[in-house]
Amino acid sequence: MSENQGAGCRVQGAGDDGTPGTRHPAPGTRRVGVFVCHCGSNIGGVVDCPAVAEYASGLRDVAVAKANMYTCSTVGQEEIKKQVKEHGLDRILVASCTPRLHEPTFRRVAEEAGVNPYLVHMVNLREQCSWVHAADHATATEKAKDLVRMGVARIRRLEPLSARELGVERRVLVIGGGIAGIQASLDLAAQGIGVVLVERTPSIGGRMAQLDKTFPTGDCAICVLAPKMVEVLHTPGIRLLTYTEVREVSGFAGNFDVRLERKSRYVDEDKCVGCGACSEKCPVSVPNEFDESMGKRKAIYVPFPQAAPLKYTLDSKNCIHFKTGKCGLCKKVCPVGAVDFDMKPEEVRLRVGAVIVATGFDPYVPHIRGYYGYKEYPNVITALELERLINASGPTRGEVLRPSDGKTPRRIAFAQCVGSRNWKSTSNKYCSKVCCMYTMKLAQLLKEHYSDMSVSVYYIDIRAAGKGFEEFYHKVRSVGGVEYIRGRPARVLEDPATHNLTIRAEETLLNKITEREYDLLVLSIGMDPPEGIENLQRLLGISRSPDGFFQEVHPKLRPVDTARDGIFIAGCAQGPKDIPDTVAQAKAAASSAAAMLVRGKVTVEPLTAFVDEALCEGCGLCVTVCPYGAPRIVDTKEGKRSRVEEALCHGCGTCAASCPRLAIACRGFSDEQLASEAAEAFGGGADEEAR
Ligand code: FAD
Ligand code: SF4
Ligand code: SF4
Ligand code: SF4
Ligand code: SF4
Repeated sequence: MSENQGAGCRVQGAGDDGTPGTRHPAPGTRRVGVFVCHCGSNIGGVVDCPAVAEYASGLRDVAVAKANMYTCSTVGQEEIKKQVKEHGLDRILVASCTPRLHEPTFRRVAEEAGVNPYLVHMVNLREQCSWVHAADHATATEKAKDLVRMGVARIRRLEPLSARELGVERRVLVIGGGIAGIQASLDLAAQGIGVVLVERTPSIGGRMAQLDKTFPTGDCAICVLAPKMVEVLHTPGIRLLTYTEVREVSGFAGNFDVRLERKSRYVDEDKCVGCGACSEKCPVSVPNEFDESMGKRKAIYVPFPQAAPLKYTLDSKNCIHFKTGKCGLCKKVCPVGAVDFDMKPEEVRLRVGAVIVATGFDPYVPHIRGYYGYKEYPNVITALELERLINASGPTRGEVLRPSDGKTPRRIAFAQCVGSRNWKSTSNKYCSKVCCMYTMKLAQLLKEHYSDMSVSVYYIDIRAAGKGFEEFYHKVRSVGGVEYIRGRPARVLEDPATHNLTIRAEETLLNKITEREYDLLVLSIGMDPPEGIENLQRLLGISRSPDGFFQEVHPKLRPVDTARDGIFIAGCAQGPKDIPDTVAQAKAAASSAAAMLVRGKVTVEPLTAFVDEALCEGCGLCVTVCPYGAPRIVDTKEGKRSRVEEALCHGCGTCAASCPRLAIACRGFSDEQLASEAAEAFGGGADEEAR
């Protein structure tokens, strides 16, 4: 029998002793206690609970049946324990609310009373009975009896099971080195948990490093960020791998096996001292991505002066040596012999206990969808481009200059919601949450830099929800020369001679169509899921929400957990948000991962699928349907067979329902157990006869 065969038959998974499940338990071999809960008036106001308990006491193998006011209360729990002792119960059926709420409670009570926790069954009399039949008390009571009878039929066929505990690797893989990944890494390291921080670009910092000042505090972004970046470099518990991609993630919570690829920098990180001599000599200049391609960098470069690590990277796509075999100046001038044209990508394999995904966002790129003349008219730029222009270390040393003629614009317009909140086009439907606020910040900065400049903001409505945000909005609006115009620009036209722009818009407050001329138009772009997110989703086996960002399990109760245990999300990887919310979520993700790892072990639930290898033909359908990547096809002496990794399985049953050979079953949900419930529902069940 294989390790996955469990019971060795489709009927029921093995109990602790490995014995096969029992198809038809002989009468008198089970001692079931039934506890019918009033849930105050939630159930008791509709269902006649004492009548249901009375009915239950006549069912086969029911040793005692009681109605309680609140079964989940301390009094209710003590009552269960008392009845277990008095009647020697070996099974507990609670007819109350949804198991999602209190199954763990009653399993714990069972354990404390000496009953196997997997011999607890809950019947939902609230959501499935009293709440939906509130108008008809008599019918509700009859249905409650039916549900309890079905539950008794099921619980009689349950077998004892036990959870397993597995050791964990006290190390976390953090993917993405923006502020979310940086914060999560620092928090984990502070708790003594090892971190491997993987960033695919040459430096950590993410989008925050590109910003000038930040709302709501008005701090210089890099001044706040750089010390944290440096702290990452100097924290012994953090292993930083920049210019690295995740290639494979397998395993399960507590024990993930990860394969990474360190792309070739063609510069030995250990040797490079960041002197920049190579870059100075390099004859190749290409657009600098960090400056949104408005400035230049060399073919051997650091993306920005505060880059961490301060190690140069050779861009082989633009390097003369890689194109023609000539040049090689950088190698000649490097004082420490760090340049290595023969460097190859390196594979790194490691084991981690948890993963935090902090891959952030990509700024919405308007020219893909022909927005407001972006990339057509030189004086239409994005807000991120303006962040770089206004930044003292940006391509214009902090001067806001028109791309068409290098002059300072006097009339600037912002168009809000670019790429967001658009249900008619291919733009995103969601609100990107930060653009109203960063526009206020930029409007204020522009006025600080150029007091005679006029700023107009075209908006649909303003979203300024957050501590102090509304006050900031009013402050910016009250600045002379800042005008808020309610209306989305309908058209942007360019005067080819001056490259000035005319915005035609329906101003909804004035109720008229206007045309106004500007020197520069700034698009307040929203946030897109980052490039490559589909691939990462496939590698990690986690889901994404309709907006394309990674999906949390529950927006209120488990906002940083994913459906795959041990994998957490933080920051804009989960959806658009500002830096304070990003940091808060990073801290939450770090704390959730730490909580799992400091225990030193993870619990593997036994309610999992198992494969009967005698029936399995290794067709692989189960592998394709499983949302958690739990089954895999292995070679056995008998041929290809499916095996379920129990630590990954969530017991959802999809594979069991799909298997054409009926080779898969789920412990605690065997055909026999489910069929016995169905038989009681539709009549003809064994327990009904025994009443
Ligand atoms: P990011 O900053 O996007 O970082 C993600 C990191 O993950 C990047 O380094 C990326 O290279 C890396 N990565 C992505 N995929 C992978 C992968 N597969 N493998 C490895 N690494 C990967 N917020 C404010 O609070 N105040 C402001 O003033 C403000 N101004 C803004 C102005 C503009 C124009 C924009 C667009 C945003 C602004 N924001 C502002 C929002 C702010 O930028 C975000 O809240 C913040 O950057 C989110 O951080 P993050 O770490 O989640 O994502
Ligand atoms: Fe620049 Fe390439 Fe020449 Fe080095 S070899 S100096 S990177 S062009
Ligand atoms: Fe690094 Fe050598 Fe370039 Fe200096 S010259 S930055 S040590 S690669
Ligand atoms: Fe539009 Fe403001 Fe939402 Fe951005 S934050 S999408 S500008 S409403
Ligand atoms: Fe995957 Fe669900 Fe089958 Fe488990 S029961 S192997 S989670 S499909």
